Amino acid sequence: MTAAYDRNNVFAKILRGEIPCQKVFEDAHVLAFRDIKPQAPAHVLVIPKGEYISSDDFSAKASPEEIAALFRAVGKIARDLGLDKTGYRILANHGEDAHQEVAHFHFHIFGGKSLGRMLPKE
Ligand code: AMP
Repeated sequence: MTAAYDRNNVFAKILRGEIPCQKVFEDAHVLAFRDIKPQAPAHVLVIPKGEYISSDDFSAKASPEEIAALFRAVGKIARDLGLDKTGYRILANHGEDAHQEVAHFHFHIFGGKSLGRMLPKE
């Protein structure tokens, strides 16, 4: 993805406090909140506070501290929600084929039920 970061994307607005979210975690580098249209009993979005469009952008440009903070946060949130005991799935969509809707990098954490196959059958 080569486009510039769009500061009007919905997660940028959440980070600026312009629209509300159901926050579950925050530190210097990371914010996590409940997905507005949950696709599992537990569905949390974990985002870096920095301006990164997608996993491609984040993996290429983020600092080691930002990368570590994001992945540490994913593990902590899953443990705090008790999902480490029952299982959970982490997912990040990049670009068109993955149907990425919001152009600010985010991990989805899904859990709270049996999640079925990794990808739907064609
Ligand atoms: P993706 O397709 O990976 O870009 O997923 C974007 C996700 O953001 C979807 O699961 C949406 O339901 C979720 N979403 C969009 N707007 C909001 C919002 N205001 N608060 C929380 N989640 C949102």
